[in-house]
Amino acid sequence: MTGNPTLTDTRGRPLHDLRISVTDRCNFRCVYCMPKEVFGRDFAFMERDELLTFEEITRLARVSVAHGVGKIRLTGGEPLLRRGLEDLVAQLAALRTPDGRPIDIALTTNGSALAVKAQALKDAGLRRVTVSLDSLDDATFRAMNDVNFPVAKVLHGIEVASNVGLGPVKVNMVVKRGQNDGDIVAMARHFQGTPVILRFIEFMDVGSSNGWEMGAVVPSSEVIARIDAELPLEEVAPNYTGETSARWRYRDGSGEIGVISSVTQSFCSTCSRARVSTDGKLFTCLFATEGHDLRALLRGGATDDELSAAMASVWRERTDRYSDLRSAKTSELRASGKKKIEMSYIGG
Ligand code: SAM
Ligand code: SF4
Ligand code: SF4
Repeated sequence: MTGNPTLTDTRGRPLHDLRISVTDRCNFRCVYCMPKEVFGRDFAFMERDELLTFEEITRLARVSVAHGVGKIRLTGGEPLLRRGLEDLVAQLAALRTPDGRPIDIALTTNGSALAVKAQALKDAGLRRVTVSLDSLDDATFRAMNDVNFPVAKVLHGIEVASNVGLGPVKVNMVVKRGQNDGDIVAMARHFQGTPVILRFIEFMDVGSSNGWEMGAVVPSSEVIARIDAELPLEEVAPNYTGETSARWRYRDGSGEIGVISSVTQSFCSTCSRARVSTDGKLFTCLFATEGHDLRALLRGGATDDELSAAMASVWRERTDRYSDLRSAKTSELRASGKKKIEMSYIGG
């Protein structure tokens, strides 16, 4: 298949990462992502035939790999709700980059089914998992996932994932002021000295339903200052250009943490991520209002070369830098009445 591994967008950014949402459904109702008032009993999730099949996903992934993608992250919604996910992992694990390397396949999950699924996923070729956990305090966590899910089960999932070799496990904590910011240092202490890498994520204005306001964002600088006051930290150089997370380590050598500062320190200039939604739309920014329908091409009989040309043309024309331009973009969207796509659909 033809592809262009040196493909870049209008700002010279390559296409390196692909995030694939395998379901728009979730068993949690995290207040910052799928608030119950919006995602209630009568919310219309996608029908089965609207979802890309594993074969369709793998075809798109193969085309993207020819264009330079070396990292694929499966997400959602809750990806472990998609039946047989390990079969998809196995198909993706068989892909090779133009220079013959395997793809780095990762998964982001709420951890609720991880203990059951970890071994099968590892056997299928999954490399790493990121688990979301917003607090160690059971009452806080149950309130944030809003389905009364206990901390202990997620911690067990993390342990099993580490034991089967899906490590080092990363743990994502979305920090929301007034809700779980009191747990920052406790989370740091809990994972200090373990191989788990804890990352603090600024509460973002994704989608249109999470009631985001700047006042609820705890800037990463404050997170670092709060931890540093008790557990001294120093900054570490990034692993690679375009890494979303800024790295810090404990001065006593007891491990590393990360902060993802999409709101206060945007990183659009190096953003090399594309997303495919559950129904096969290609999005070039997390904060997009519209995607490009690849499923229509897939199901309309397009050849691999036609798919490849469509993907390349979308990426070549990409101008996105929402986080760099957040305030102007917010006013623009308000004036146009357009709505940002929800994270559960586009994939986090
Ligand atoms: N359900 C899986 C999970 O929670 O890990 C995967 C999908 S979730 C949308 C992916 C990541 O996005 C999670 O780590 C979640 O905490 C994060 N996230 C969701 N809404 C967010 C928001 N408003 N601000 C910052 N991060 C958010
Ligand atoms: Fe579900 Fe993940 Fe969104 Fe929470 S963050 S509601 S677990 S998709
Ligand atoms: Fe990338 Fe869009 Fe996020 Fe900027 S706002 S880092 S372009 S996904």
